Amino acid sequence: MQLNAPLDMHLHLRDGEMLENIAKSSAHTFSGAIIMPNLVPPVSTKEEVIAYKERIMKAVGDEAFIPYMTLFFKPSYDKAFLESVRDEITAIKLYPAGITTNSEGGVIGFDVEELRPALEAMSELNIPLCVHGETNGFIMDREAEFASIYERLAAAFPDLKIIMEHITTKTSADLLDKYENLYATITLHHLLITLDDVAGGMLKPHLFCKPIAKRPEDREALLKVALSAHPKVMFGSDSAPHPKHAKESCGCAAGVFTAPIALQVLAELFESENRPLENLQSFVSGNAQKIYDVTPLNKTVSLEKTTFKVPSDYNGVVPMYADEEIAYSIKDITYD
Ligand SMILES: [Zn+2]
Repeated sequence: MQLNAPLDMHLHLRDGEMLENIAKSSAHTFSGAIIMPNLVPPVSTKEEVIAYKERIMKAVGDEAFIPYMTLFFKPSYDKAFLESVRDEITAIKLYPAGITTNSEGGVIGFDVEELRPALEAMSELNIPLCVHGETNGFIMDREAEFASIYERLAAAFPDLKIIMEHITTKTSADLLDKYENLYATITLHHLLITLDDVAGGMLKPHLFCKPIAKRPEDREALLKVALSAHPKVMFGSDSAPHPKHAKESCGCAAGVFTAPIALQVLAELFESENRPLENLQSFVSGNAQKIYDVTPLNKTVSLEKTTFKVPSDYNGVVPMYADEEIAYSIKDITYD
């Protein structure tokens, strides 16, 4: 089985030692990835974007990989600033204030008029807006409560591409066919688990993430659009590494680390559901190329159906399926 130019349209590469430790986990198998800007402080100037990209390229070493950079959304961004930074970024990521790791400086209200100058400038410059769509409500309802904000933004800014990041609910999946300018990324883990897998038995800290995994009917809705390669849906791992001690503690950090096993497990999932390879190819690359208008590096990943025992950790970060066997292995990777 061969996948061409796989893309991860939602990735956390972190910074410093963690960046050095995990960058190659993605860069080895993926042609490129949308890099999230939630560092401390968040990436919000042209200089910070350029400097972060340089640190990423250094950590990636000789792997063929394009980091598609993003800025951390601020309502104060004006057109002159966005024009000056346009060539350095692929998208801008909006976080509601305080909702996930390092999002304290995010947006508080979602007043359309307050957001209008920045979002209209983005529409004119064709810069997509990626959104972490959760309110501060009850944890199982946060994403569904955010749906009305997605609808308000989609209606008010019809020329803005809005990407609903890491959707976890049927409510969000249903919005894809309601608004022309709404798109979505879906993670690997939200295609595989529900809240039962996280907290139904012994608590599984390595499956704890934001947005939290939801109900079986939500997972079914995500599977339906992903497996059918709905043209507005892209793979975005939201692979989010934390050191083992930050996960296996009394204050468990949110995030699932899937980068090193994502393509292998997706291959197994699509095969087990009897879906053609073209669907997987569209989900992991083709749809994203069209939505973002990007041309990735021509990397080909060959997978074979040989059992792979997932390591217990990658440089101190515990992956999904640690110490378990998965059905597919990476056979080889070519780049021309
Ligand atoms: Zn994320």
